[in-house]
Amino acid sequence: MQLNAQRKRIRVQGIVQGVGFRPFVYRLAVSLGLSGHVLNVSGGVIIEVEGSAAAMDSFLDRLPKEAPPLASIDELIQEPRAVLGDLIFTIHDSVPDPGKFALVPPDLSTCDACLADFTDPSNRRFGYPFTNCTNCGPRYTIIQDIPYDRPKTTMSVFPMCPECQAEYDDPLNRRFHAQPNACARCGPWLELDEAFGRDALVSVRTLLKQGAVVAIKGLGGFHLACDAMNDTAVRRLRERKRRSDKAFALMVRDVAMAERIVFIDEADRRALTNPRRPIVLMLRRPDAPVSLAVAPGNNNLGVMLPYTPLHHLLFGDLPEGEPEFAALVMTSGNLSEEPIVSRNDEARPRLHTLADHFLFHNRDIQTRVDDSVVRTFDGRERVIRRSRGYAPQPIDLDRKMTEILACGGQLKNTFCLTKDCYAILSQHIGDLENLETLTFFQETLDHMKRFFRVSPQVAAHDLHPDYLSTKFALQIANVQKVGIQHHHAHIASCMAENHLHQKVIGIAFDGTGFGADGRIWGGEFLVCDFASFERYAHFRYVPLAGGDSAVREPWRIALGYLKEAFGSEAHKLDLPLFRRPENHIRLVNSALEHRINTIETSSAGRLFDAVSSIAGLRQEITYEGQAAIELEMKADGSIGEAYPFDIESSAPSQIDTRPMIRAIAQDTLAGVVIERISTKFHNTVSRIIVEVAGRIRASERLQKVCLSGGTFQNMYLLKASVTALKKAGFEVFVHSVVPANDGGLSLGQAAIANEVCSRRS
Ligand code: ZN
Ligand code: ZN
Ligand code: FE
Repeated sequence: MQLNAQRKRIRVQGIVQGVGFRPFVYRLAVSLGLSGHVLNVSGGVIIEVEGSAAAMDSFLDRLPKEAPPLASIDELIQEPRAVLGDLIFTIHDSVPDPGKFALVPPDLSTCDACLADFTDPSNRRFGYPFTNCTNCGPRYTIIQDIPYDRPKTTMSVFPMCPECQAEYDDPLNRRFHAQPNACARCGPWLELDEAFGRDALVSVRTLLKQGAVVAIKGLGGFHLACDAMNDTAVRRLRERKRRSDKAFALMVRDVAMAERIVFIDEADRRALTNPRRPIVLMLRRPDAPVSLAVAPGNNNLGVMLPYTPLHHLLFGDLPEGEPEFAALVMTSGNLSEEPIVSRNDEARPRLHTLADHFLFHNRDIQTRVDDSVVRTFDGRERVIRRSRGYAPQPIDLDRKMTEILACGGQLKNTFCLTKDCYAILSQHIGDLENLETLTFFQETLDHMKRFFRVSPQVAAHDLHPDYLSTKFALQIANVQKVGIQHHHAHIASCMAENHLHQKVIGIAFDGTGFGADGRIWGGEFLVCDFASFERYAHFRYVPLAGGDSAVREPWRIALGYLKEAFGSEAHKLDLPLFRRPENHIRLVNSALEHRINTIETSSAGRLFDAVSSIAGLRQEITYEGQAAIELEMKADGSIGEAYPFDIESSAPSQIDTRPMIRAIAQDTLAGVVIERISTKFHNTVSRIIVEVAGRIRASERLQKVCLSGGTFQNMYLLKASVTALKKAGFEVFVHSVVPANDGGLSLGQAAIANEVCSRRS
């Protein structure tokens, strides 16, 4: 036994399993001459180390600093132990602890070391598309149960060859206990039209270069891919997907190529090269060498880098004569509105009308995940769709939670489970409007409850009685149900991720959410904490004719706003939106006059739709938010002017936008350019925000403002509002780790339900 030896027990919590943490600890301890052991336990890793004080200090100092790139340490607790006189350092087998839960790691993009392996002709993994190690590769998508071990993954059907097994067993190897470890001799392979492995890879590249649409099985599901430079191919895919305008995501070879397509700042570069490899929305270069059909009417393009060895090999250096790509369209392999296809046997039946060829592989996808989407604002990454690489990473809520299931909203659904101090959000489930999506919701829920050992005692849900997520929550037996107002949940979501617990000014702008008065809300100023909210102000109610079909046809929405602003003569204005069959206009006009099949809404999203239509920009849409997105694209910030508006001092106050609607109609009639109208409109909305927030501050003595709801995905509005609010002395909080849209709703529902339940009991 060493003289002056010490022994310590260190408990590390966070994402430390499946990311190469134990081998790292082993190497560090051995290099410092320390003895002891490390083992995985549910909830983290326990290390016992013994040796000199100097070595111990160095170990504790370097442990958090040099941890593997994908490890994320939440807590490090150390306590002294009696010296045992261990001679060596060892890695112990996992100890399952049924009450506790381990954090299931998200899927990780290919690391540089693996990239070097499969691109080196002398390496035994040269050209092998399923190469991975403890620092990279599939995780959440292949795990069937925990603890995370190969027999409990979809890799269990591939016995390792002696060479792979030797790597797996060697604590000093990068592939020590890498559960999906494989090589061409023992692991999964590719298949395309009777061709296998390398041949399949060569032929998929040829087909893509010829302009084919190929369904390519990836990490979390199938992509539909085609050459982004080939206009005919992109248009063909667009036609087949019946997605006439919504932007397609691009995968590009490398950052240098991305730089030729979009404008990239430092934060964008960090997001793009983040090991989670999200799709990053960035401003398109006017001379971007990709088909315009990739994202019609949109100045932004969603770009991602290759994140599996297969992707790298699609772009990689090729023997002479083979075609090469700079960018591929990579859109989710699904029929519109359905979840992404993940199983080989469902690919052909469901995608045969979309794809010319199928590139399969035989590593099963246990849990499907779409690509995540982010954009950057204020130097930080903001998640818009939280899925691959992010889910199911827990979000620390800073307080002990009741075990809750929050079922989320209808569109862009995610659900949320809580355990200990964590919120665990599901990946993006999609629009809960059909059986396939509901089944996906149910499967994912069963899965995550098992992984994280959660048995919810509470089910939180939206107030909208027709949301499938609401119906789902209400039929669960033996749990407490908590109904939560949509916009309160939006603000609570922003509060939760920013660790705010006190009352705030909450500004929730979105398309639609069920109000506490049974009407449709969406332009709301709340004063709230987790326990309750007060509706301080909202946009004045406007009638919409035709319910859901109105949303597809912004001109119908506009007519409602115009009638409010101009009265019964509104439809006689010589505006572009009235250039359509007269009987259509008469029908909507009379529906509005007699309030037949009309609903009243205070929605901010509908206001954007109406303005887009009145100004002559967009009368019909093919995807949610299109009219507002195209209006945002026209705002250029060149002027600071705004339109007039009124605020009625009722309780709650009503924000009257009729003066603005009249002015916009007049500007349009006078031939003012759309860029100017759009800029003035956006400026007006941000002035309304600062004005109302100022009134709330004066009466409630609050100065923290939370901005949430899908409308704040409008970057022009977000920037203008945050800047103006800060200038007026407010502290402003926005989303970063969960989406501002309905994808973040479940987090807010969980935070509110937790508070409500703790007060009930
Ligand atoms: Zn690797
Ligand atoms: Zn092998
Ligand atoms: Fe919403």
